Amino acid sequence: MNMTTDSSAPRKPPQQGTTLSAPFWEAAREGRLVIQRCSDCGQLRHYPRLLCSRCFSDRCDWVEASGEGTVHSWTVAHHAFHPAFADELPYTLVTVDLKEGVRALGRWREGSTPRLGLAVRGGFEPREDGVDLVFQAVAG
Ligand SMILES: [Zn+2]
Repeated sequence: MNMTTDSSAPRKPPQQGTTLSAPFWEAAREGRLVIQRCSDCGQLRHYPRLLCSRCFSDRCDWVEASGEGTVHSWTVAHHAFHPAFADELPYTLVTVDLKEGVRALGRWREGSTPRLGLAVRGGFEPREDGVDLVFQAVAG
């Protein structure tokens, strides 16, 4: 069955940004990973939040992140949280300590096995109706 033309097949939920996260998704569609930075104290934070956890300012700007980091943890999904992901099972989700000092969640590129502290690099890859942040081991 061709999933792209079967109108009865479940579709992945849309990646709906909020006012808060819109800059993240706009950059993601351009292949850029951006994270929030407090305009008052410079604290970086991810995922996008309304207030700074250090100084409680609600002013922020966005800075581009390298996508480089190390594996903090991972999980292998054997049950789909949404039917549209069922034919991708099992898949691995990884939490990465970005070198900028925040954590990001993404898909793990299949074909290798994550381990704690492994050096990784992430980037955005297109999917049916949006983009996925995908991490993989840094070669060498
Ligand atoms: Zn702050």
